[in-house]
Amino acid sequence: MKNAEYIHFKKAKPFRFGDVFVYIGVAVLIAFLFVYFVIIPRSSDNLGFGVFVDGKQVAVYNYGSFNPQITDNSFSDKIVYDKSANTLTVYYGHDNSHFNVIKIDDAKKTAVVKDANCSVSKDCVYTPSLKGDSAIVCVPHKLKIVGLKDKAPSLPTTGGVQ
Ligand SMILES: [Zn+2]
Repeated sequence: MKNAEYIHFKKAKPFRFGDVFVYIGVAVLIAFLFVYFVIIPRSSDNLGFGVFVDGKQVAVYNYGSFNPQITDNSFSDKIVYDKSANTLTVYYGHDNSHFNVIKIDDAKKTAVVKDANCSVSKDCVYTPSLKGDSAIVCVPHKLKIVGLKDKAPSLPTTGGVQ
């Protein structure tokens, strides 16, 4: 009996044909998980960005909307959107002599500060473009541009209880 079992074991192929489907199944599963968790989020999770001045949200922009929403009425005449250049310019001061120009890239779903007159060093202009939920900060202008990732930009509720 013992000898017969040994012969049977020797005759058995180390690699069965049916195993191929298991390996293919695992490979497909790995590929699917890779695409789902690694590739797709990078191209779709950057929904837009919020513009904050002095810690207060003043505007939000959804990539592809070509329609920024001004969320603070006191900034309605201080935020200028140029649709052809796709830039959002935020002005400061009583005479609006200070500014930051935010250049929007809807295709790449990112934004960068293209120009500003905040300081000699212009740190905000040299900050890399938004990626995910990263932020661009302009300290002299108390400006913060925050990438909105995975969640829709928050809009103020209208007609709420005071
Ligand atoms: Zn700056």
